[in-house]
Amino acid sequence: MQPHDNLLKLQEIDTIIDSKRHKKNNLEAQKELEKVQSDIAKLDSLEAKSNDTYKQRKQSQDRIESQITMLEQKMKKEQDRLYSGKVSNPKELGSIQEELKHFEKNKDGIENDLLEVMESVQEIEDMLNKIKARKEDLSKKSNELEGKVVEQTAAYDKEIEELLPKRDTQASKIDKSLLAQYDSLREELGGVAVAALIDGLCQGCHVQLPAQEADRIASSKELNKCPNCERILVP
Ligand SMILES: [Zn+2]
Repeated sequence: MQPHDNLLKLQEIDTIIDSKRHKKNNLEAQKELEKVQSDIAKLDSLEAKSNDTYKQRKQSQDRIESQITMLEQKMKKEQDRLYSGKVSNPKELGSIQEELKHFEKNKDGIENDLLEVMESVQEIEDMLNKIKARKEDLSKKSNELEGKVVEQTAAYDKEIEELLPKRDTQASKIDKSLLAQYDSLREELGGVAVAALIDGLCQGCHVQLPAQEADRIASSKELNKCPNCERILVP
């Protein structure tokens, strides 16, 4: 057994734990969930805007409808006068009829406005219904994804939990100052502090060491580092 084999074994366990932590923190389901939640937020704001538009259009509709009611009341009054028999002057009768024609024309125009505004109300209602349906779909999807994230996170946590005692046992076999050096190197070098040296090739950075240097390290009892990546090399 090489003097630094324990260090290499510790590195192997730490690499597995790191990889599981990385996977746990970068779940595909989590990314999908964030996308779905942002889509829901966008729909919420579209829905709020559309509701405002709906209210405005509804108010226009009410306004036009009350204009028509008022006009109809005026017309009714004139018609009542016309047929009441109280007005007999032909000139006056003629002017009432003229006025009624004028009201009728006005009413046609306003009724066209009403149709237009009713169509635009219908349009926005359709849109609001579509938004609602889409939000329901997304909300279902969001719940499913949340479930997935919880489940997958728990699975990784369990695996990591099981590895930690093995890691501690392995770490306890290593001298404290060497362990401290290992920890700080790991921090510095993205998690990998120790690499195997196989056939003169550093497994940390995949650089081939000069044959003489590789031979020296292979027979050395000292702590050696890769001249390229600074990792502790274990032959
Ligand atoms: Zn290297």
